[in-house]
Amino acid sequence: MKTLYAFIIGLCLLSAAAAQVKPPQEAVLDRFLRYVKIDTQSAEDQTTVPSTKKQFDLANLLADELKKLGVERVRVSEFGIVYGMIPGNLAADNSKVPTIGFIAHMDTSPAVSGANVHPVIHKNYQGGDITLPNDKTQVITVEKNPVLKELIGDDIITADGTTLLGSDDKAGISEIMTMIDILRQNPQIKHGNIAVAFTPDEEVGGGIDKFDVEGFGAKFAYTVDGEELGEISNETWSARTATVTFKGKSTHPGTAKGIMINSTYAAADFLTRFPKDMLPETTEGRVGFVHPYSSTLDIEESSVKILLRDFEISGLEAKEAILKKMIGETQSKFPDVKINMDVKVGYLNMKEVLKNFPQLTDYAIEAAKRAGLKPQMRAIRGGTDGSNLTFRNLPTPNLFTGGSNFHGKLEFNSRRGLEKSTETLVNLVQIWTEKSK
Ligand SMILES: [Zn+2]
Repeated sequence: MKTLYAFIIGLCLLSAAAAQVKPPQEAVLDRFLRYVKIDTQSAEDQTTVPSTKKQFDLANLLADELKKLGVERVRVSEFGIVYGMIPGNLAADNSKVPTIGFIAHMDTSPAVSGANVHPVIHKNYQGGDITLPNDKTQVITVEKNPVLKELIGDDIITADGTTLLGSDDKAGISEIMTMIDILRQNPQIKHGNIAVAFTPDEEVGGGIDKFDVEGFGAKFAYTVDGEELGEISNETWSARTATVTFKGKSTHPGTAKGIMINSTYAAADFLTRFPKDMLPETTEGRVGFVHPYSSTLDIEESSVKILLRDFEISGLEAKEAILKKMIGETQSKFPDVKINMDVKVGYLNMKEVLKNFPQLTDYAIEAAKRAGLKPQMRAIRGGTDGSNLTFRNLPTPNLFTGGSNFHGKLEFNSRRGLEKSTETLVNLVQIWTEKSK
């Protein structure tokens, strides 16, 4: 009987505690709708960071809002990176729990305009394709977006068909800001020190090079920049770039007989030798590729630039060997052309480091489960800011934001997507506290 009483009292306490979680001052969806209206598009091939001054508009706003949420050491660096620290609220010693960082990026892709974004809320979605109101040719179809089937009854947020939405990555920003808001409203939720940062120029690269890892002050971090609910990533490509040059000999074509060596034919021959089943347009999942993405053709000298991508170093090496074999074949056909290959190492799969810190993804999986989600690991066919940070002593896997169709006019997220992602972050800081005791 006594145990039954204790059990019932325990249940009451538990449900009371759950009921006591106060909502944030501003709902994550409202925050999101405010942030996506601020144009923060970055630009390719700029020499400055941030690549566009307008990214400071959001940076300064976020810094103000962080201060109002009681965040300490808030600053915007000369490169437009926003930093802040939420002090832990552990009675004894905050240093017992490692400082965890959360990072999201402010810029949107240069591929599609991010000016005058008009978010549209499709309330209580009942299935079917979604036609965007201001350009009827823009249709989010169930066929291409099977995730829509899981969003029945949800409120879906899209752009109006003329711009991208900017869920990538203003969803991540809104979710981190709302996590801070919830923690402030709910001091009973125990957590260690939490570092936050919002970065510019993720879409064009370069912004993260200016990131002050030491000043940030986190031992581990998460980028909140992924897609569908539950998707967690601790793997990115390992990347190399090869440049193959073909040297010939140019002369006046009127007197070229027996002298001219036209390198363009050798380059063209080389291009026909690429394995058809190892290209970006023929691979997916964990299969890597070789990708001739740029070339110059001239009599005297031609060149082909090639991306090599694989999740395994051995896979990259195999691809390099294939290129060498192709060069050998072209060389024997064009013995007078001098062919040379130069390979540069790009970034490395962050798994090479993250495999030593399995708790980062284990805790994230647990946090997603507690939010009622079905977490799954997904390897990213690209790089992230986290892969850069991981190799600068800040191990940083990537978490979902609930968004889909990044970098295009069909981008969308949902109320539940935003709310469940936020809930996962709140769970995650608690799990770090529980596990570090
Ligand atoms: Zn992103």
